[in-house]
Amino acid sequence: MKISIIGSGYVGLVTGACLAETGNEVILVDISEGRVGEINAGKCPIYEPGLQELLQKHIGSRLKATTNAQEAIFQSEIIFICVGTPQSKDGSTDMQYVISAAKSAGIAIRGRKDAPIIILKSTTPPTKIDEVVLAIENSSGKKDGEGFYFFTNPEFLREGSAVKDFQKPDRIVVGCSEGKSSEMLARLYSPFGSKMFFCSSKSAMMVKYASNSFLAAKISFANEIGNICKKLGIDSHEVANGMALDRRINRAFLDSGCGFGGSCLPKDTASLAFEAKMLGECSSMLSAVLEVNKNQPSKVIERLKTRLGSFSGKKIAVLGLAFKPGTDDIRESPGMEVAFLLHSQGAKVFAYDPKATENAKKHAPALNYCKSAKEAIEKSEAAVIMTDWKEFAEIDTEKYVLEGKRILKLKKPNYEGICW
Ligand code: NAD
Repeated sequence: MKISIIGSGYVGLVTGACLAETGNEVILVDISEGRVGEINAGKCPIYEPGLQELLQKHIGSRLKATTNAQEAIFQSEIIFICVGTPQSKDGSTDMQYVISAAKSAGIAIRGRKDAPIIILKSTTPPTKIDEVVLAIENSSGKKDGEGFYFFTNPEFLREGSAVKDFQKPDRIVVGCSEGKSSEMLARLYSPFGSKMFFCSSKSAMMVKYASNSFLAAKISFANEIGNICKKLGIDSHEVANGMALDRRINRAFLDSGCGFGGSCLPKDTASLAFEAKMLGECSSMLSAVLEVNKNQPSKVIERLKTRLGSFSGKKIAVLGLAFKPGTDDIRESPGMEVAFLLHSQGAKVFAYDPKATENAKKHAPALNYCKSAKEAIEKSEAAVIMTDWKEFAEIDTEKYVLEGKRILKLKKPNYEGICW
């Protein structure tokens, strides 16, 4: 099939590369010339395991990138919208990129005789979906269900294992209005052999928001329990292991630590809380999930202060700047937050991340960046581990180490965890 993808970030690029791998002809569209140039040169602009290899395999043949949306979209049977839906200051979803992408798609299909499929993959509040359809209708002069077919198809991949998740998803959720044929989507996704769940376009997006908010809630619950455990001298991970023996409780997302980050869990939970507020609905659980998470990095700071006293002039290693292992994404990263807090309180921060250093440098040029965890620890009097990258498991030092994420293999009297 001929496919174009508007937005070539974590989701768009992975979607494009994986659909090229299953034999489709894919054109990636992005407004960033730099990103398009890198992709066409076979250089992956983001770090994601397995993505560079897929890109190199298909670029120039079944996969290409362009800034020319009209040209790309005009040839496509299926058009994906994969641009960002960042959080505005009030917690609402900033729809400007999706609306702009929807308009581009609409303009590009104006003169077409056939009716292409337009799929909204960007995480979009259910209340905003009609605006997206309207933007396409107004710019194309065509009606949904006649001149084009609109679907929602939220993405559930996780950064750090995005390629694997896309190729072997737990489920593929497709939203459409009644009576529309989703046969083409079933065909597109058939090589992945996963269960497909069809529902209304609004329900599909709500599945995404509810799932992410639920996962965020599990983490904040684990952190609240973990904070209590720390005060009681109890190992919270041991408690989670015991809890997980109950079949109704899954062990996943019960690891207490320094809080969640990234571009999805915080913003999707905040967006749902905002939508609830607009509807006059109480969302005290969602608010509490966000509140616990916001406070968790300050628990790291409190603990370090208890051990080290004032930070003024202290040299502290911050290990892990990405929001999770396996990615270079530092959006909403607890590691970055802790590095900022330490720096603003007078500490000299020696920061290290296996993949996210270049992104971190752009956002926090005042920190001191190291080439390895060893170097950062050598230059510091204490260290804090903020991302559970595997390589941190081997750390062996006599200096004080605080784990914000549990990873260390060795147990030593000078090592402690934030919730254990
Ligand atoms: P991203 O910020 O990595 O990428 C977005 C890309 O869109 C950028 O390259 C940007 O230049 C481009 N763009 C913006 N406006 C454009 C336009 N009008 N035309 C063409 N390109 C344009 O975003 P992402 O992390 O890939 O997320 C995309 C969507 O998928 C969001 O709604 C997000 O919530 C959702 N999502 C993300 C993840 C994830 O792990 N990152 C997982 C599931 C769902």
